[in-house]
Amino acid sequence: MTIKNKLRTGIGFLFVLALTCCGLSVYFLNRLSADAGAILKDNYKTLQYTQNMQDAIDANDKPLSPKQIAVIDNNLKLQQHNVTEKGEQELTDSLTLVYTQIKQHNNNITEQLPLRSHARRLIYSIMHLNMDAISRKNAIAADTASRANVLVAVSAFLLFTIAFTFAVNFPGYIADPLKELTARIKEVSNRNYHQQIDFHSDDEFGELGQAFNNMTRKLDEYENSNLASILFEKKRIETIINTMHDAIIGLDEKQFIIFANEVACNLIGMTTEQLTGRYAPDIALENDLLRNLLINEQPRLKIFADNRESFYSRDSLSVSSKSKVIGKVIILKNITEYQQLDEAKTNFIATISHELKTPISSIKMSLKLLEDDRIGNVNTEQRQLLENIDDDARRLLQITGELLDMAQVETGKLQLNFGSTHPRNIVDYAVKAIKFTADQKQVNIKVKCDDTLPEVHADLDKTTWVLINLLSNAIKYSHEKSVVELTVKKHKNDEIEFSVKDHGKGIEEQYLSRLFERYFKVPNATADQTGTGLGLAIAKDFIEAQSGHIMVDSEIGAGSRFAFTLKRAV
Ligand code: ADP
Repeated sequence: MTIKNKLRTGIGFLFVLALTCCGLSVYFLNRLSADAGAILKDNYKTLQYTQNMQDAIDANDKPLSPKQIAVIDNNLKLQQHNVTEKGEQELTDSLTLVYTQIKQHNNNITEQLPLRSHARRLIYSIMHLNMDAISRKNAIAADTASRANVLVAVSAFLLFTIAFTFAVNFPGYIADPLKELTARIKEVSNRNYHQQIDFHSDDEFGELGQAFNNMTRKLDEYENSNLASILFEKKRIETIINTMHDAIIGLDEKQFIIFANEVACNLIGMTTEQLTGRYAPDIALENDLLRNLLINEQPRLKIFADNRESFYSRDSLSVSSKSKVIGKVIILKNITEYQQLDEAKTNFIATISHELKTPISSIKMSLKLLEDDRIGNVNTEQRQLLENIDDDARRLLQITGELLDMAQVETGKLQLNFGSTHPRNIVDYAVKAIKFTADQKQVNIKVKCDDTLPEVHADLDKTTWVLINLLSNAIKYSHEKSVVELTVKKHKNDEIEFSVKDHGKGIEEQYLSRLFERYFKVPNATADQTGTGLGLAIAKDFIEAQSGHIMVDSEIGAGSRFAFTLKRAV
């Protein structure tokens, strides 16, 4: 039965009960008033008639006056029509007879008096009969009233009990399922989908329970299938991360470790279980490697693991979702191999440059001798050739010197020769050295260097080396027949800025901060990729050793601008 029908039935039943109660009360009231009416109508009137007759008879001992006769006639007549009790008819008839005789002997009072006494007795008997009837009927009415009391009380009690049961139970019948449903919905909103409701009734609640159970079952299925696929994906990513040769550590936005692959665990010297879920700065307190990685943020680290020394470069990527940072991944790349190669290269460069210096110097010596007239005469063409050789030998000597400098930087034995020099000198040397390369690509180097600029306090050779490097890169990454601008100008109060601007393809913003790292090369840069990625790193060392700064600006498609500053001479 539907709730609507149940409600209708319940309220209808109460209504019927109330009606019954009212009906009973009305019925008994009617009965009581009927009883009282009967007493009034039947017996009370008789008492009146008989009283009137008696009064008329007893008025005096004289013959009945016409007025008395009229009263008696009248009341007797009324009494004759109001006979209600058993035996009353006979008494009334006898009274009529005696009264007729009284009337006949109205002139003879002596004979009339005994008749009057007889009439009085008859009247009294009728009165008595009716008074008995009154008290009997009164008893009946009292009985009816008390029965009515009991019946009305019983039915009122019944009505009250049923109404009370209804009032107590019915709200619960509606509210209990709603309460249970609310509790289950709260659980569901907390992603607890194992919720089933036991509404067995065949009304709307039953239907509601069934619909709810279906919904939670489907949600549960969906959640489980989702969870399974997420777990599968997680496993796959973990496997990929674990098979990588680089050490990878994932942190959430609050610096809690989410994962660390085997290589990372090995380096840190802790197991995945010991690392995962822990607050990284806490571990960093007692772990040197994590401290260097997270707090000191060292870009390069030397780590002793597996009984050997290895070199790692640190890379940190922040992970964002919907423009909100949700964590970061730290990657430690093993660069030991490059480091060893680099050291070998540095040693090689140092040795070669050192070894080349002696033969080049002796070539220069021989040239000097050849130029001497005492050795023999040379014609003009031969002199020109000798001058060219001398020029080349000088350049070779310069280059080997620079190579040696670079090797010194690498081995930490950098020596600077400070002096005051005009920026124009540095610019001229560099442009001269790079001219051949620029001409080959037909790149025009536009120099802007005001002669009024103050002198700079710098190591001429090293600064020239840096400028050559910047110009060489600018040419390398420029299109043919384009322009490279070399500008020198005042920067702040006590600094001079040298800048090299090209109109090549430019560098993506994400790589700009890493350009000055050793071995860094922009991935997939189209130009010649044979470089080692050391040039800018050494340039930075050279400039910073002279208390200057080196920087870069770049825009994809528009080109790059590298600049460095030097202190002006005092
Ligand atoms: P490399 O010997 O590889 O040129 P550098 O340290 O001089 O080493 O440069 C590092 C990287 O920076 C290069 O590999 C190149 O990708 C990028 N780069 C340097 N200069 C420029 C430039 N002017 N335009 C575009 N990319 C440049």
